[in-house]
Amino acid sequence: MNAAVPTVFTATCDLAAQFRGRAVPASREEALLRGGTGWVPADLAITCFGPIADNVFGSTGDLRLMPDPATRVDIPADGDIPGTRLYLADQTLPDGTPWQCCPRRFLASAVEEFGAELGVTVIAAFEHEFTLAGIPSVPSFSFEKYRSAEPFGTDLVTLLEQAGFAPETWLPEYGDAQYEITLSPVEARVAADRAVLLRELVRDLARRRGLRACFAPLPNLEGSGNGVHIHLSFYDADGNPALHDPSRPGGLSELGTGFSAGILRHAPALTAVTAASPVSFLRLTPHRWSAGGAFLAERNREAMLRICPGTGPDAGARLNLEYRAADATANPWLALGVLLRAGLEGIRRGYPEPVVWPESATESDLVVVPPLPKTQEEALNELERDEVVGGFLAPDLLHTYLSVKRAELNTLAGLDDAERCRRMADVH
Ligand code: GLU
Ligand code: MG
Repeated sequence: MNAAVPTVFTATCDLAAQFRGRAVPASREEALLRGGTGWVPADLAITCFGPIADNVFGSTGDLRLMPDPATRVDIPADGDIPGTRLYLADQTLPDGTPWQCCPRRFLASAVEEFGAELGVTVIAAFEHEFTLAGIPSVPSFSFEKYRSAEPFGTDLVTLLEQAGFAPETWLPEYGDAQYEITLSPVEARVAADRAVLLRELVRDLARRRGLRACFAPLPNLEGSGNGVHIHLSFYDADGNPALHDPSRPGGLSELGTGFSAGILRHAPALTAVTAASPVSFLRLTPHRWSAGGAFLAERNREAMLRICPGTGPDAGARLNLEYRAADATANPWLALGVLLRAGLEGIRRGYPEPVVWPESATESDLVVVPPLPKTQEEALNELERDEVVGGFLAPDLLHTYLSVKRAELNTLAGLDDAERCRRMADVH
């Protein structure tokens, strides 16, 4: 038992993208790792605002939160605030078998199937933007803005390094009081685990420094959006990059183009999972550098899928695909899982190759690209209608997801956009 870390918190990330779990004393850590801790199926239906949405589980049933030892992160004691240890958990049935509605399990099986069928390893990196309430309004990208977030910024980078998360960049972003933290690319499941943990580490540290971190997609209707950009690259069994082919449009391999075709074909339903709040679709509009339409383009920051070229002598190895239509109201395991499954469908079914829009494409060229859903309601209807994407999720998981998201929408019904943004900023 580690006296500096007197408690251990085991948690999952749910459909409302909330991090929920239970603490045990450190003296019970071994028992926890062996047998997990109790959990309730209907917890999956808790909305971001608190109440439980309609669900098939009711008041019965039992689950276990089974911590994965590989996800351990220590938050050191800080002044009067004790340290704690975090674990991410899989949700299992009491006998230890996986629960079909567990979001973490959903990603694990998507990664397994993707790898087994295509013979590639998926590497991912999540970029998170967030705003820090309590920071003065100073110029974007400036040294002053970077320093204005001290000591939070340096403490965050240090904490992430200690946790082994390999932070890459900590930057004073464009929006008012907006910052961005990027982590190095890593195996897909680990990347999504780190995305779940990163948000909590940021929020927890901000609270301790008298700030409030807000990951809502549009904290303020007039301001900049907070995106979560998901970078993907694939490597074959010999460790060679599988996304790059200099002879093809955009330098994107046949595999990468087929993958993109799957994502673009199913874009409307996918956004229901990756842009998971009533205000997410206010961010997904042109001129916000988020994703202004369902298209694939070289270097274009308005594309849903951006081809990010590598630089330097191993440029090919560094080419990656960036999915820009996600935000932090999405569960990272579900978001990455549906992207991999949709991409796999594109390859399997041989969907027609999408246009690779060159960097030179103008706004008037791009008027022909399919738009993204304009509202969450539209996206959820698309998810319900799209049997391919809906079919990725176990029936109870799909039912609960739609129910939670529609309950969240109903909570904000009748409010204007500015108030909806404020309400989401309160809970994210
Ligand atoms: N803030 C933008 C978004 O909502 C992204 C800006 C950037 O390219 O980093 O996605
Ligand atoms: Mg950014």
